[in-house]
Amino acid sequence: MAKSILDVGWGEPLRQLEYKARWYGRTFVQIDRLYPSSERCHACGHTVAALPLAARRWQSPACGAALDRGVDAAQNIWDAGLAELAAGLAVSGT
Ligand SMILES: [Zn+2]
Repeated sequence: MAKSILDVGWGEPLRQLEYKARWYGRTFVQIDRLYPSSERCHACGHTVAALPLAARRWQSPACGAALDRGVDAAQNIWDAGLAELAAGLAVSGT
């Protein structure tokens, strides 16, 4: 799938996702593509300057939380999406 996305860029998959969300009456939220979801500690909000792609697990230098890169990023994206919803920036179906 990564190669497929590289071939067309993120624009088309996002357009399709937004279209399907509208079609099914769901809410589509797109967060800032530069949001540091992988480098931010979900527990305390501390953001590290850089995290090598190979680092699948890391420890927050601020609070010591042991983090799984993917799970932590998903939680951060979820929170950012909720913040966008609260700010009224989401696109809703129906
Ligand atoms: Zn932390």
